[in-house]
Amino acid sequence: MKHFVVGVDVGGTNVKLGIVNSSGKVLSRSSFSTVAFIQTPETLTDAVCEAVVALLAKEGVSRSDVLGVGIGLPGLIDVDKGVVRLLPNIPGWADVALKRIMEKKLGLKVLVENDVNMITLGEWEYGAGKGIEDLICMTLGTGVGAGLILNNRIYRGPGFAAGEIGHAPLSDDGPACGCGGWGCFERSVGNKRLQKDAVVMFGKEDITLEDVYRKAVEGKKKALKFWEAVGEKVALGLIGPINILNPECIIIGGGVSRSFDWMKPSIEKTVKRRCMKTQAEMVRFVKARLDDDAGIIGAEVLIRHENN
Ligand SMILES: [Zn+2]
Repeated sequence: MKHFVVGVDVGGTNVKLGIVNSSGKVLSRSSFSTVAFIQTPETLTDAVCEAVVALLAKEGVSRSDVLGVGIGLPGLIDVDKGVVRLLPNIPGWADVALKRIMEKKLGLKVLVENDVNMITLGEWEYGAGKGIEDLICMTLGTGVGAGLILNNRIYRGPGFAAGEIGHAPLSDDGPACGCGGWGCFERSVGNKRLQKDAVVMFGKEDITLEDVYRKAVEGKKKALKFWEAVGEKVALGLIGPINILNPECIIIGGGVSRSFDWMKPSIEKTVKRRCMKTQAEMVRFVKARLDDDAGIIGAEVLIRHENN
């Protein structure tokens, strides 16, 4: 009986790995700097494979006990073929047959998935979305993305590009966006914009979102107001998806979700005021539960579903 999955979460800063058991528990972790191996797809892939082998050796897990390796990357992934089409923030990755390359190097089954979908799978099966058949799992950070669980299945779209909630336009005269559009939701709630909002609100050039989080923890009124306003902006981007998909639950993750408790009342208020009645009454807002482990744990779900 094969008991374990190795989850790999490739981010722009770090690559995180974990051995996950069949109950979604992370037994052992490791990580390394993405930047140190970012030169080419080959250097990064080699580093990932070496880290997988080292982690299994460290835990004394033999390959015959490993069901597979699931790797999440920040970009467009052809999940069926195991090909990385494009990673917008990691140069050089275009149509890399990562599944084939890693399977050859490791002698293990490998599945490749978009990082936000991996987080969504983890939260759905083991975190804030347990037992829910229709949900949106949104990550708020430098980028704003979402994974969709519809009818108890992950929905990727025919081109594996579904869920780009950050690139739904909120205005026709907003700033140009890297996606080719303008006025995108991400341009109003992405970290860069929130950082600028904080500078304006607090009149301090060097203030960080971390500072505003800490001030809110201390109960400072202005900081609480800041997160309340962020909640309103977040809700504006959710109204369309909620009206269209009628989800039971919106899970909010990513760095900014640490401030979820201060954002939640204004999200709920705005959605109640502006969404259609049935959709507004059904939807609940919850904070992601698995934090940094979500992507690693999601790999266990991906691999197990593939084998069932
Ligand atoms: Zn955009």
